[in-house]
Amino acid sequence: MKLTTIEEQKIDDVLNNIKAGNERILGYPVSKDFDYSRLNEFLKYPINNVGDPFEENTCKISTHEMEREVIGFFAKLFRADPKNYWGYITNGGSESNLYGLYLARELYPKAMVYFSESTHYSVKKNIHLLNIPSITIRAQENGELDYDDLENTLQFNRHKPAIILTTFGTTMTEAKDDVSKVKKILKRLAIQDHYIHCDAALAGSYGAFVEPRIPFDFQDGADSISISGHKFIGSPIPSGVVITKRSLRDRIARSISYIGSLDTTITGSRNGHSPLFLWYAIKKMGIEGLAKRYHHSLAVANYCKAELNKLGIEAWTNEGAITVVFPKVSDSVKDKWQLATDDITHVICMPNVTKKQIDEFIKDMMKEKKSMTSKVQSNYVF
Ligand SMILES: *Cc1c(COP(=O)(O)O)cnc(C)c1O
Repeated sequence: MKLTTIEEQKIDDVLNNIKAGNERILGYPVSKDFDYSRLNEFLKYPINNVGDPFEENTCKISTHEMEREVIGFFAKLFRADPKNYWGYITNGGSESNLYGLYLARELYPKAMVYFSESTHYSVKKNIHLLNIPSITIRAQENGELDYDDLENTLQFNRHKPAIILTTFGTTMTEAKDDVSKVKKILKRLAIQDHYIHCDAALAGSYGAFVEPRIPFDFQDGADSISISGHKFIGSPIPSGVVITKRSLRDRIARSISYIGSLDTTITGSRNGHSPLFLWYAIKKMGIEGLAKRYHHSLAVANYCKAELNKLGIEAWTNEGAITVVFPKVSDSVKDKWQLATDDITHVICMPNVTKKQIDEFIKDMMKEKKSMTSKVQSNYVF
């Protein structure tokens, strides 16, 4: 059957809306500068990466081989022990966080989870799904975990295993929790049964290039790390990566004979196209390309901050961050540039954002300056 004219029109309309919306996004962490046309042919096949990417699988229409390479790439970037890492490509950072917390709970069923006020909502939902008791820790003004509050709270619960959820790049201010500080606190309190999951959805992809370095990876003390594939790298389909230690995953692996593989992933059928995109992206960029992307973003973010400051707007960034934070803007600027606002606004200088775009945005900000709320402004002096 053929589609009706109305249905044909609908496809064009939706496509045009997407194209128009794609022009100006400054508030959300999605890279748009990708070209995966080399992989178009793969859309003709029902690729399914069901099962553990590191085990023999009976399903042959898969991209497990590329998935393993992508996991290997990030394991190395996150300084995992080359003989002791494991992971898989998920549907996104949220599933990666769910996996980290699930693994932690299986290892320590009686544990308490600690996470900061600035933690992503997916973490709270996951903790609820897994039914683990939890305590919210205060965040500092810049969005980073309040280590003193963590230490005091842990002190009261020393008899319980501790699962600490750190964030490397919080959603609003891109604050980065220092994993080595968390590790030191656990050591001081002699809490031996502990697990640290690092949610690095946005910033994990460039964390290795941040200077001065902010501790977040396996050598710094993380037991698992999650990132989103569609954020800094960029992909037409949302995806994520979770990396952990092979030894930990082995302790919870359960065999299931039906698919002839170990059932170690959260979902059953898994998207086999995302590993292709991520593989293609990391091969094209390499480590140097990834570092270059970060340095470009950082330069644009510093430019944006300086231009806003010139207008007398108190814009600031966390150290090494590509997210510029400033007081809430009017709805018209917010809608035009698709900005996320809380009681503050931010511009995330993803690799596709150029200085030229920032100039256009600054022009709008110049017009809007008077309507900015001065109340919030005074809270942020950096
Ligand atoms: C985006 C984000 C997530 C969720 O990732 P998805 O890929 O959207 O599921 C989790 N944590 C942080 C800090 C994020 O920025």
